[in-house]
Amino acid sequence: HGIPPLTEHPFLRRQRRLLLEHAGIIDPESIEDFIAIGGYRAFLKALFEMTPEEVIAEVKASNLRGRGGAGFPTGIKWESGRRTPARPKYVVVNSHEGEPNVFKDRRLLESNPHLVLEGLLIGCYALETPCGYNYIGGEHALALQRFQRAVEQAYELGLLGDDILGSGFSCHVRIRTGGGAYICGEGSALMYAIMGQRGQPRTKPPRSVEEGLWRRPTVLNNTETFASIPAIIQNGGSWYASLGTKESTGTKLVTMQGPVKYLGVAEIEFGLSMRELIFDVFGGLREGYRLKGIQTGGVSAGPLREDELDVPIDFEALTPLGAMVGSGGFVAFDESVCAVDFARYLVAFSRYESCGKCTPCRLGTPALVEILDRIRHGFGRPEDLDIIQYASKHIIELSLCGLGQVAPMPLLGMLERFRDEFIEHITERRCRAGVCPIAAGE
Ligand code: SF4
Repeated sequence: HGIPPLTEHPFLRRQRRLLLEHAGIIDPESIEDFIAIGGYRAFLKALFEMTPEEVIAEVKASNLRGRGGAGFPTGIKWESGRRTPARPKYVVVNSHEGEPNVFKDRRLLESNPHLVLEGLLIGCYALETPCGYNYIGGEHALALQRFQRAVEQAYELGLLGDDILGSGFSCHVRIRTGGGAYICGEGSALMYAIMGQRGQPRTKPPRSVEEGLWRRPTVLNNTETFASIPAIIQNGGSWYASLGTKESTGTKLVTMQGPVKYLGVAEIEFGLSMRELIFDVFGGLREGYRLKGIQTGGVSAGPLREDELDVPIDFEALTPLGAMVGSGGFVAFDESVCAVDFARYLVAFSRYESCGKCTPCRLGTPALVEILDRIRHGFGRPEDLDIIQYASKHIIELSLCGLGQVAPMPLLGMLERFRDEFIEHITERRCRAGVCPIAAGE
């Protein structure tokens, strides 16, 4: 009737929706809806037509890399877990997702929880273990409720439990929830939390594929990683590897915040440029806003300036620029955002969420925030910029876990790209965006 198909909507046209294909279309609380669109077929294919080794071979061939931020090859991790002889083994979904501006795992669990559960089942089969867990952030109430419902429905249909569909393979899935601490998204802290202990990172080695939950081999992957598995098993690893770029295959869920036209979660093929992402997918900035840059990698990396946006989005291309795909959280910011103030916000998050176990992070992140506050209030000193560099180097090199190791990155990136703003605050006592206390004469 002359109505263009939904896929022609400007927000959807440049997306490649594998994981979100049925989001908003099927009833996430209906296993029948999921089965009607081909759900659990990949699990049954694995179970009845493939050996665990063949499943891992397909995952390796897909070159799927961990979607939680680190980008480690999933197939290699699964193979290591399989090779480790100790038993029992555990497979864990990390659905903690505590970073500001990132909500793609929550959206996956809310819109298609069975897809994540199917990926987890395939992972348990590949590791030949009956023990699966999903650790869901305590703030994600609807995601938790829907995943719980999915697990119940799968038990009712005999897709979970003992001797699944007479195959001889048994699998049980348990759900644990967090209490809101960001650090519990870190692998080893998450495992302590599942075991009922205080969620703090530990030194490595041993890696968790050797000694994880209850000191047994544990494979931990992000929610999005597990959700990518069914399509790989169904269509083959080489099909998946043909999507995206050579080193970063497949699709990626991304979130964009800031004054863009369309807000929300998008799914793109790796290789799209950052400029295409913001202008062709998220519709560019709303009227009256002029793009200054994009903060990348949540709170774990630096920003890109407007003139750097032609870089392709993949795990490798962003790194030399000090930027990062991370878990896919981006923030577009305009001239009304002060680089000093924004850097303070990002570092303050890490300071607040530092678990306090190691000194460089526990004392270093508050020291950075203190210096930035001094600058924001007009009491900055020229040597402060050198102190930031010096302290950051030590925090990065000496912190125990990833939180501390990347905490100064957004600040260093802002300082590199918008140094003139830092200098203006110090030497002219001026905030050009007019948002720092200095601007109000405080
Ligand atoms: Fe805790 Fe920070 Fe040390 Fe990580 S780096 S263990 S969050 S204090």
